[in-house]
Amino acid sequence: METSYSPILKDPKSASEHNLGEYSGFAADFSLNSAESELDWLPNGGLNIAYEAIDRHCKTNRQYKKALIWEGKAGETESYTFEDLRLLTNKFANVLQNLGLSKGDRVFTFMERLPEIYITAFGTLKAGCIIGPLFSAFGPDPVKDRLENSGATVLVTQPELRARIAEILPSLPELKHIIVVNKFGRAENPLVENDLEWSDLMNLASDEFNSIETSRDDYSIMHYTSGTTGKPKGAVHRHNSVIQQYITGKWVLDLRPDDVYWCTADPGWVTGTSYGMVAPWTNGVTQIVYEGGFSARKWYDIIQQYGVTVWYTAPTAIRMLMKQGADLPKSYDLSSLRYTASVGEPLNPEAVVWGINAIGMPIHDNWWQTETGAIMIANYPSMDIRPGSMGKPLPGINVGIIDEEGNEKPVGEGGNLAVQPGWPSMFQAYWQDSERYDSRFKQGWYLTGDEAYKDEDGYYWFVGRSDDVINTAGHLVGPFEVESALIEHPAVAEAGVIGKPDPIAMEVVKAFVSLKEGYEASDSLRRDITGFVRTKLAAAVAPREIEIIDSLPKTRSGKIMRRLLKARELGLPEGDTSTLEED
Ligand code: ATP
Ligand code: MG
Repeated sequence: METSYSPILKDPKSASEHNLGEYSGFAADFSLNSAESELDWLPNGGLNIAYEAIDRHCKTNRQYKKALIWEGKAGETESYTFEDLRLLTNKFANVLQNLGLSKGDRVFTFMERLPEIYITAFGTLKAGCIIGPLFSAFGPDPVKDRLENSGATVLVTQPELRARIAEILPSLPELKHIIVVNKFGRAENPLVENDLEWSDLMNLASDEFNSIETSRDDYSIMHYTSGTTGKPKGAVHRHNSVIQQYITGKWVLDLRPDDVYWCTADPGWVTGTSYGMVAPWTNGVTQIVYEGGFSARKWYDIIQQYGVTVWYTAPTAIRMLMKQGADLPKSYDLSSLRYTASVGEPLNPEAVVWGINAIGMPIHDNWWQTETGAIMIANYPSMDIRPGSMGKPLPGINVGIIDEEGNEKPVGEGGNLAVQPGWPSMFQAYWQDSERYDSRFKQGWYLTGDEAYKDEDGYYWFVGRSDDVINTAGHLVGPFEVESALIEHPAVAEAGVIGKPDPIAMEVVKAFVSLKEGYEASDSLRRDITGFVRTKLAAAVAPREIEIIDSLPKTRSGKIMRRLLKARELGLPEGDTSTLEED
């Protein structure tokens, strides 16, 4: 399996002081677990993420350092020091205790990116409860499914969002308390009978709290997966995951004490908690949170205005920035940026190279999942980047490419991407679905559900999700390879590729593409794109059919839903669409 790109890129700006490159995943005595000693353990071997991320800094010269700089969608700003967060999360932990919650109870948020979401999350962890953040753009049904499945006792929300889901609330017997945050008094009628008001509760609560004793094995955060391949699963993590989130923040995101860090992921998805909460703050770094949604100008403006140095984002956002061209970023001063990284979907080589032209540095791709809790495979700072590759496993992570029987496949051959269990941030359960959890482990491997291959230098290349890999006339084709070639065409903004059943070839490759601004769909453009990809891809791999559509169906976390393209093409039921983004 060859990719169309093979250049090796050096990132001029990030010759890392952590110098991990020489270890590249094979030094047994140097692993993620060694980071344990860099944390501040509590008495009797206790471990609590909130203590590691917030309280411990308050015993150092970082006590009054800014932890959070927040900008609201209407331009309001707030900032919080580590000490502010310590006191506020103590208060919220007391609120939960006063409401009678105990260890292991579930507290969910359904909120926009307000500072209160961060206070709720860490206050919940201090109280020994499990935090479950829900993405704010959900409608009533996905919220109901998740609150019902998790048996959440408390929901922290805001008036507008509460109104959106009002109809489902009476049908959730386990949900005892609804706490409403009326930020800046934005809503005129914030309270419904029996709801509790955030500010009332917080005003009454003490700001002194001794964290409930939690151990490394106690549950901490639960996240429902993105639903790209089917019904979302509630992956449950434990406090131990902080070890990996902390050290990958340092090794992969290259976080250093003076950084200003911006993670664009919403806390409703795992990147938004592992790397939008835990990694920056355990590293004592200042982070920016912007409440509003995507806008290319606003995003460049945030980097310029706050002097962002490290930026963690996603391929879908990068493709949206690419859509606007490389001139726009040049009209901003982005010189503060030192390092950028991406996760969530494969990062097309074109996007890595775009980074160099547009923002002066390549984008470092890395791979992980809700279930892995933290970064597992990465192009880390000191390493040469191979555009289109996910990079190499972190030290101590044992990755294999295996066949159906669990045997490892030779270098260069595609197969199931599997990981040996035991990494610090490994999920511990799918909530109330032990059968499904067990089915992910086989012959000593955790099966990720993705297909990949390893090259002779130990770099891993994503082929596709196992369900999305296409079998055409005996060739296994990964959609990513075809999509990456398609988006090299100047008119193509995004591409989604599926296997369409065919009586002779078993499947044929069909591509759906959306166009960049300024291009009109036409037969001649379609033919031009078809001719273009044929020059890039082997005949067996090049799409037999190309269809131009307005936009590709995506999850709310920005992932292309190929299973929907396929269902629609074949006129089949669409399955679970609870995370489908609306146009
Ligand atoms: P579901 O499991 O519900 O179908 P999902 O797998 O999209 O949804 P997430 O856990 O949010 O839910 O996403 C993880 C998946 O995203 C990975 O298994 C992989 O398929 C894809 N992914 C993430 N990062 C990368 C990357 N750098 N390169 C390729 N694929 C990636
Ligand atoms: Mg998944």
